[in-house]
Amino acid sequence: IAYVFSFGAGAANSDSRARDKAVVGGKGANLAEMASIGLPVPPGFTISSEECLRYLAQGDFSAGIAEAVAAAVAGIEQATGKRFGDPADPLLVSVRSGARVSMPGMMDTVLNLGLNDATVVGLAAGSGDERFAWDSYRRFIQMYGDVVLGVPHHLFEDALEIVKEDNDFHADLDLSTEHWQALVSEYKQIVKRETGADFPEDVQAQLWGAIAAVFASWQSERAKVYRRLNAIPADWGTAVTVQAMVFGNMGETSATGVAFTRDPATGERAYYGEFLINAQGEDVVAGIRTPQYLTRAARERANAKLASMEEAMPQVYAELAQVFDLLERHYRDMQDIEFTVERGRLFVLQTRSGKRTAKAALKMAVDMVAEGLIDEATAIRRVDPMALDQLLHPTLDPAAPRDVLAYGLPASPGAASGAIVLDADTAEKRAERGEAVILVRTETSPEDIHGMHAAKGIVTARGGMTSHAAVVARGMGRPCVSGCSAVSIDLAARTLRIGHRNLVEGDVITLDGSTGAIIAGAVPTVEPELVGDFAVLMGMADKYRRMKVRANAETPEDCRIARQFGAEGVGLCRTEHMFFQADRISAVRQMILAEDEGGRRAALAKLLPEQRADFRELFEIMAGLAVTIRLLDPPLHEFLPHSDAEFAELSATIGIGADTLRRRAEELHEFNPMLGHRGCRLGITYPEIYEMQARAIFEAACEVSTASGAAVVPEVMIPLVGTRRELQILRELVDRVAGEVFAEQGRRLDYLVGTMIELPRAALMAGEIAEEARFFSFGTNDLTQTTLGVSRDDAGRFLTPYVEQGIYPRDPFVSLDIEGVGQLIRLGAERGRATRGDLKLGICGEHGGDPASIDFCEGLGLDYVSASPYRVPIARLAAAQAAL
Ligand code: ADP
Ligand code: MG
Ligand code: MG
Repeated sequence: IAYVFSFGAGAANSDSRARDKAVVGGKGANLAEMASIGLPVPPGFTISSEECLRYLAQGDFSAGIAEAVAAAVAGIEQATGKRFGDPADPLLVSVRSGARVSMPGMMDTVLNLGLNDATVVGLAAGSGDERFAWDSYRRFIQMYGDVVLGVPHHLFEDALEIVKEDNDFHADLDLSTEHWQALVSEYKQIVKRETGADFPEDVQAQLWGAIAAVFASWQSERAKVYRRLNAIPADWGTAVTVQAMVFGNMGETSATGVAFTRDPATGERAYYGEFLINAQGEDVVAGIRTPQYLTRAARERANAKLASMEEAMPQVYAELAQVFDLLERHYRDMQDIEFTVERGRLFVLQTRSGKRTAKAALKMAVDMVAEGLIDEATAIRRVDPMALDQLLHPTLDPAAPRDVLAYGLPASPGAASGAIVLDADTAEKRAERGEAVILVRTETSPEDIHGMHAAKGIVTARGGMTSHAAVVARGMGRPCVSGCSAVSIDLAARTLRIGHRNLVEGDVITLDGSTGAIIAGAVPTVEPELVGDFAVLMGMADKYRRMKVRANAETPEDCRIARQFGAEGVGLCRTEHMFFQADRISAVRQMILAEDEGGRRAALAKLLPEQRADFRELFEIMAGLAVTIRLLDPPLHEFLPHSDAEFAELSATIGIGADTLRRRAEELHEFNPMLGHRGCRLGITYPEIYEMQARAIFEAACEVSTASGAAVVPEVMIPLVGTRRELQILRELVDRVAGEVFAEQGRRLDYLVGTMIELPRAALMAGEIAEEARFFSFGTNDLTQTTLGVSRDDAGRFLTPYVEQGIYPRDPFVSLDIEGVGQLIRLGAERGRATRGDLKLGICGEHGGDPASIDFCEGLGLDYVSASPYRVPIARLAAAQAAL
């Protein structure tokens, strides 16, 4: 089979591997695809990522690759009529990396490869532009020196700066042929000095050096960090693409740019992009010159002076617009395109599905269904459930006063406040301490990724909407204000200036990524609106999903949010959360510290009306939807007073001496409370507690159903059950109390008693336990702790190295350990259902809001997932994706 695939030179390659992203990478696959549909793509070839893995394993290229590359280069020569290394009219190429998914951590592209002291003369003659030829040559030495030979790039930049300063030049365009020639020799000296060897004149050596560097960059620290953050497997490897150069730096009729077929920030159906006349490659993203807008509308909206491409190059622009439409129809998705214009001729250098904000993803998915471009199922699959998070969180309160320091570009939406940090490491350190930080940099590079990830928001002084900071921030869902020239940083002094204000690292600012505003201090925020596209997509998701989505909620506030977000019930009401409220904690403490049952009952009598009121409100808000209430679960000492003052206060309130209270509290100490006196063990030893709770539930249910006429069906859930007998005793207790309440009230209500499955034994014995249970709810937080033997509260000490070394693929408390814990869930579900065909099954751990875990639950045929309120929409979408 082939490992080198040509494109754009002669007939389209019929090998399907030539367009397979897993083989030739995303860039290579799309270049081949574009060439095959007749778009103007410079000819080239791609060496597959399999060869990368072999190269990394063997330390050398495999046999046959040299011949295949030579043949592919000959193909480009034939298509272009130029020869590689020909001093009269040289073929120049770019060497580009391309993994299966786009990865900013990879090697930078080398342009103009094939130039040397002889070919530069041919390039000058062939183009009729000497200055261009020498500019291209110095760019080549600089890029090759930096990315292949590892010469620090600032050495080249410093040399260029000196020439500019000496001549009082302001822009690169001011330099003449002679200046570039002088710089070329100086650059070569820099290379010699730094590497101890001459810059390679031999074009074959240049080519193979660059190919090897691309392959090696798969193992760079940058790439590893990016892979870790984005869960990209190390065994994908990267492909390398070698492609004939076209030149955007051949004068005023040449240009280079990047564009999106729709607005990546809002999703609006308008071409969006930037370009630079007489420029090459990364000049647009590097922020060296201010890029010009693509469309006239965008230029006018921004009130920019420089002409848009639509105005400056109307013909090429029209051609480009056609390419946009064609590509969008072909890929049926918004495309992110890189193009170059060489003396009025358009070339497309890259296309891929464009990164977008959650808001844009949503709008585009909904719009494209309406346009007939995609179907509903595709629209549902297009939106990353986790990205909805961006839309579900608060934005700046429009009514709040704000002290705007400056405006930059609105590069990634959302609002965030935090302390200013000036470098990525500081961002990471302070964020680890739980501090909200905003990373403020002159510009960002792939080395800053960990800091961007740790920060709540990002500000840069330089760079456009397609700069590194903007692209990465949008991908991570961090608000970002880029290109704010009013920001100037003094890194040595750890101070900065924003607009007219002097600030120091640590000062709090707020940014609004939707307007580009940077604001002094912290600005209050408001809840998002859940209408429009969001509602439409959720409606589609609801049509396709099978599982119900409930919320883990107990406070009225959380229950209301959950309902707004579309929760179809409460899957987990943690009654102990109700015990912490200020007005009842002393009664709770009195109950716990009581010497005997009589003392406990007296305290419980005070709690009963409070709990009843809690449940009444809960049932009212949930208006007939299912509500699962878990009886008291945590170890009792969690409620105890801590300080002397608290003991004194309690002693005064309940009339028991502080010393007695303290002694009781000490008696309650446990060595390992997670596995101690908690859950149903409390109900077994202090049945009066569960009796009170059951009574409160049934009395409230009767009251609400009488008042509203609606059915209220409480689901009473017993925690931490490991044996059938435990559940039997407590089920009988609940049934007895229900019978008493119904007799008193003169009416009956339907209700269910069930249990959490959160101990391995419960999963194993699920067949027996189901005889006593009408429902199971997999409590995957505890089930993960008890199965892995890992305490969630202590895992922080070792979890990071565990994930880094691949011991755990992900944090098992975030995404279910499907291989291990998943087996117990499967077993529990199967054995439970075998006993009781109509056993209701759900999941209520953190995992109920995690898309991968939800997918697993769908596979098991669970009836519902229950997630925290803000995750309910994520779960609705993920459940639909899982069902498709
Ligand atoms: P990245 O993955 O970082 O986007 P690319 O391989 O796309 O890197 O290269 C970056 C830029 O270099 C492109 O956007 C384009 O402007 C320029 N470039 C790459 N190959 C060529 C080429 N054959 N001719 C002209 N410019 C090129
Ligand atoms: Mg690119
Ligand atoms: Mg639990």
